[in-house]
Parts: sequence; structure tokens; C-alpha cells
Amino acid sequence: MPCHDLLSGCSKMDMLSENSDIAVAIRQEALKLGFTACGFSTVADTPDEVYNAWQDWIAQGKHASMTYMERYAAVRRNPQELLPQASTVISLALNYYPSQQLPAHNPRFAYYAYGKDYHEVMREKLQQLVSYIHTIASCECRICCDTAPIFERYWAARAGIGFVGRNSQLILPGRGSYFFLGEIVTTLPLPPSQPIASQCGECHRCIDACPVRAIAEDGTIDARRCISCQTIENRGEIAPEIACRLGRRVYGCDTCQEVCPHNSHATPTTIAEFQPREELRTLTYKKMRKLTREEFAAIFRQSAVKRAKYEGLMRNLSCLDARLFEE
Ligand code: SF4
Ligand code: SF4
Repeated sequence: MPCHDLLSGCSKMDMLSENSDIAVAIRQEALKLGFTACGFSTVADTPDEVYNAWQDWIAQGKHASMTYMERYAAVRRNPQELLPQASTVISLALNYYPSQQLPAHNPRFAYYAYGKDYHEVMREKLQQLVSYIHTIASCECRICCDTAPIFERYWAARAGIGFVGRNSQLILPGRGSYFFLGEIVTTLPLPPSQPIASQCGECHRCIDACPVRAIAEDGTIDARRCISCQTIENRGEIAPEIACRLGRRVYGCDTCQEVCPHNSHATPTTIAEFQPREELRTLTYKKMRKLTREEFAAIFRQSAVKRAKYEGLMRNLSCLDARLFEE
């Protein structure tokens, strides 16, 4: 190694160790703000293994109608394309597991869609954390909450807040996978956290439980089959072989998370915005059949469900077997 590289290597190490107190303070503040976990990873190229798996997934058409997943290859390769001089990705997890389930005889919504759209809640908390960081360090920060094309589960796993399970979810050991992820890409060098190895072991439950066989042995999801994608992202008809497997699911699907043993210890979120509102708790199949556009707009005004739009939700509803909801 040339002498100047040794020097720059040493000064970087010094800076990282000096910043370890800052890392501790950032993590403490993140927990205070309601995040369950906070970890740090050093910015670098996404490894070929991860990047090529994404390219193969796209090439096979497994992203279905989500064509936006094809774009921004350079940012997916390296977050410095988002923020030049970026040094660290701070990954954060926010619990959304609801303390109250919707009545079992009503149409089912994925847990993540029970409360207020997480993007707003997450953005506000990330912004608060950035404001805090600016009080203790001089740096540039860029917030991401599903708003930038980075491999957020990869960065979260690398930052040691969990591991990517066969169901392709990020799983926090002992806490499960009902977490929203957010990131702060920053020029601040922080000591990287220790990644966590997969704890799936020989388990196969999610693959076996998926009602449409959308999870491959290697843990990749075929969005052309996945109920979550088809009921939320698909703007056309749902293929009959998928529509007949919806059961009571009218928006999203949690099955591959519900069967995961790591979720048996999921604890409800304390974030009030993620609890289901009264209008959703009382939304029976009968009421949904008569739902007007105005009622849809009022009930789902601040909800992730508005992504499917009125037409999408009513299309999903029309796929469900009315006999499942007879009281
Ligand atoms: S969300 Fe549902 S349909 Fe999609 S992979 Fe998981 S279990 Fe299968
Ligand atoms: S159900 Fe089993 S295989 Fe699937 S993610 Fe959970 S632990 Fe891993």
C-alpha cells in the first residue's frame, strides 16, 4: 500500500473511533424518537451478489408491473450517487405491529396499512433525527423512506439491525419483521455495526404457507403471483389463478410473515398513528360493497390504501367470495 494510502487509512480509522461517541448518541436519540433499531454501515458499492440478483429478478420479469424497479441502476449500485461524499448509511426500523387486529370476519388489510401512511410518520422522525445529528456533528444528510432506489434491506442487514429472511423481509432477531425501514445517508463517518447472519436455518414455513407459491427456494418473490403486489400495485385485472386464492385479503398479504417463527414474539407498536382507525375497524364486507368514492376518500385519506385507488380496492373486493363473509 502506498504511504499516502496508509496515512489516509489511519486518519479514517482515527475519525471513526472519534465518532464512536457520536454513533452512540445517534442511536440513543433514535430509540428516544420511537425507532426500535438503529445501525450503521459504511458506504461502498453494493456487492455483485446483491446487485446481480436484482438484475436477474428484473430480467425474469418477476417485478411484474413495477417498472420503476428497473430504473436508477447507478444509485442501486452505490448510494454516493444520491449524496456525493456519502460515508455512512444509518438504517432505522419502526415497529408497525398493531395492538388491535381488525375483526376476523371483515375483509383483511395487511397490518402495515392499518394506520396512517408510514411515509409521513417515518419522514418526520428521520427529519427529527437529522436535526439532532446537526446539533452534534457537521455533515450533510439525505433522508430515504422508500423514496430513493437503494437496497434498503441489504443496507439494514449490513448495519446489523436484522437479517433478510427467506420471505425476503428484514427480520430483527427476537422482534420479528413487522417493521418499516428508513435510512439517512450521510457524509459523517461512523463506525460500522456488525452484520447479523441469517437465522432461517432449515425453516421453510413461509415458502410452504404462501397461498400462491410466490416465494422461490432462493427467497426471491415473484411479484406476478404475490397477493401483496397484485392487490396493491397491479392496475389491471388480477389473474384468475391468483384472484381465487385471495381468501379474505382485500389489500396486501401478511401470510409469509404471520407463519414466521421470528414473529411469534412481535410486540405491538406504541406509535398511535399505526393503529387502525374506527372507520377501518368497522368496515365490513357488506359496507365495502356499497362504498362510494367519497367514503373511500374519507376513510383512506391518510392511509397507504389510497395507493390502490378506489378502483383497485373495489376490484380486489370483487375477487373475494361473498360466502366467506356471511354472518
Ligand atoms: S405476501 Fe403473501 S402472496 Fe406474497 S409472498 Fe408473502 S405469502 Fe406469498
Ligand atoms: S418463516 Fe422460516 S424460512 Fe421464512 S423467513 Fe421466517 S424463519 Fe426464515
